[in-house]
Amino acid sequence: MNIILLGPPGAGKGTQAKRLEQRYRLVQLSTGDMLRAVVASGSTLGRKAKKVMESGQLMPDDLMIQMISDRIEQPDCARGFILDGFPRTTAQAEALDTMLKNKGLKLDSVIEMKVDPEVLVERITGRFSCATCGAGYHDRFQRPKVEGVCDVCGGTEFSRRADDNEETVRARLAAYREQTAPILPYYESQGILRTVDGMTDIDDVARQIETVLAAA
Ligand code: ADP
Ligand code: ZN
Repeated sequence: MNIILLGPPGAGKGTQAKRLEQRYRLVQLSTGDMLRAVVASGSTLGRKAKKVMESGQLMPDDLMIQMISDRIEQPDCARGFILDGFPRTTAQAEALDTMLKNKGLKLDSVIEMKVDPEVLVERITGRFSCATCGAGYHDRFQRPKVEGVCDVCGGTEFSRRADDNEETVRARLAAYREQTAPILPYYESQGILRTVDGMTDIDDVARQIETVLAAA
């Protein structure tokens, strides 16, 4: 089962992807996390990516596609994957389709997570994650059960993304509205777009997604 979670930053894509990984034994492909890992690996692709990122530019589409293509050939992706943070433009969506078709793969569902823009800033500026295992938390909505200790791995170090501040968030929301939301009709026309209400609590959103996937 191959899924895309589509929605503005803060919609809850990462949160739900982590749940889907466990529920269906799929692999979360967060392109942001993957890019940071590729750069850290020092590979040829990593050196290219580092240059682009340091110059403050967007990664070229072919580089992103190559990175995802390499990743989904790993054996752990055999049961399927959840793309989170990709595609961000219609051109990327088309390139993704071509790449998957060449591998004999296809997308089963594209799940749009709909959230009112006003709550996104609060969700993003309050989020943090475990530095050891990446589990996501929120100052108000999802605190660790024991203060300062990760529920999943027991780690005690947490980190916040440098770009999770109000000013950057507004620019990222505008980029979503202008460049990414126009992808929705593309998947709608393929008949694979499903929309869930991302305004409800985390468990309820998870139930909605399960319902969608059960019908897919
Ligand atoms: P995305 O990956 O779409 O950018 P995240 O999954 O990181 O979004 O969620 C952003 C923040 O909002 C996180 O801190 C998360 O704990 C919190 N969050 C996610 N889903 C919900 C929800 N349904 N209700 C309240 N808070 C949520
Ligand atoms: Zn952890």
